[in-house]
Amino acid sequence: MPHRTMVMRKTLHLSHCLVSFPAPSAFIGSFVFLPYSSARTAVDALRFSSSAAGCYPLRRHGGFGEVGTQSPLPELKKRTFTRVSAASWLPGFGTKKEKAPLPEIVKAGDPVLHEPAGEVSVQEIGSEKLQKIIDDMIACMRKVPGVGLAAPQIGVPLKIIVLEDTKEYISYAPKNEIKAQDRRPFDLLVIINPKLKNKSDKTALFFEGCLSIDGFRALVERYLEVEVTGLDRQGQPIKIDARGWQARILQHECNHLDGTLYVDKMVPRTFRTVENLALPLAAGCPPLGDR
Ligand SMILES: [Zn+2]
Repeated sequence: MPHRTMVMRKTLHLSHCLVSFPAPSAFIGSFVFLPYSSARTAVDALRFSSSAAGCYPLRRHGGFGEVGTQSPLPELKKRTFTRVSAASWLPGFGTKKEKAPLPEIVKAGDPVLHEPAGEVSVQEIGSEKLQKIIDDMIACMRKVPGVGLAAPQIGVPLKIIVLEDTKEYISYAPKNEIKAQDRRPFDLLVIINPKLKNKSDKTALFFEGCLSIDGFRALVERYLEVEVTGLDRQGQPIKIDARGWQARILQHECNHLDGTLYVDKMVPRTFRTVENLALPLAAGCPPLGDR
């Protein structure tokens, strides 16, 4: 499984990127992951809710989406605007400041997901616009809740990823699954211009999903140990040595920055709807787990 190296080093100006911010919607998120025991609940949730359901992979042997938990998500509140009377003699007084809505998750087919993202220039890292993009990404990821998100997924063609996995998210998975996937909690990571490299040839196969491809999952082979270097949100160099599930998340998110979705790397005959996630693999498909 060759690791694609970014050769493109274009610098995009944020003013251009922000144009591609789509309208707000109730569908936001990233990677989700559920135990089989929760599958029924989640499938029911899929049937009865239109919000973020596609983000929840279900699986007896390790669903993997842009990971999260199965707790029901509140619908995004519609924006309401307080009208300010023209006759008001205390301008602004009594008006309510509305929180800007979160950006919508971009779906497969939009070129922003299929083209390499641009490097973030170091000068722009401290800017309000870039920090706002990062804040939006974190908010989107947590709203799902998810364990990873790449900037192109909110329509921003820049090399930025965010990821985190918590004890709570992991608590929803069966212990044998957590062990098989080598899944451990880690604190929020914001990585700008990440560079990914595998640290060993060992790989594992587990199901993945992506919020940009609602409602589907497939087996994807990933390296078990990777190193990612890049910059944090203050522009300071960082290096992450990851293994297991965190390594998988990093590979999934870094792939997004190359314009690569999991479907570009999946074992094609394992592709399935979320509802069919628990069905056995077709004859001839490689088994889940370490290779
Ligand atoms: Zn994804």
